[in-house]
Amino acid sequence: METESSAQGQNRWRRAPTARITRRATFAAAHVLRRSDWDEDRNREIFGACVGEHGHNYVLEVTVTGRLDPDTGMIINLKRLDAVIREQFIDCVDHKHLNRDVPFLHEVIPTAENVALAAWQVLQPALAPIELVRIRVAESENNSAEVVGA
Ligand SMILES: [Zn+2]
Repeated sequence: METESSAQGQNRWRRAPTARITRRATFAAAHVLRRSDWDEDRNREIFGACVGEHGHNYVLEVTVTGRLDPDTGMIINLKRLDAVIREQFIDCVDHKHLNRDVPFLHEVIPTAENVALAAWQVLQPALAPIELVRIRVAESENNSAEVVGA
């Protein structure tokens, strides 16, 4: 038993540490949570106050991992990460209505979970070969959703 735990300890120390870096961006957008195939009572019961038109000041966090470039000490240049996040996602959603104006959210109920998932689907191919590990979308101080890589 002692041997086993010391072997596990050695394995832990042998494993190379991995670094991650997170970039934060903000956007403001309107949305409404409702299904057109449900009646008003059912929508109100399930989606509560979000059944009416309203907006949020969203916070997006994008976490990536990869090998450190020995010349820069970086996984990815933050300027490039920021540019990809802005061009591929923020510019599409900022000051927009998420139900109506955003092609990649078409016919999707724009919950925080679905917005995070859409951000993942848009950003993952744009960032490759840098590996996306986490997307967090906060709608408010109290609500946030995360999508994490397998
Ligand atoms: Zn909302």
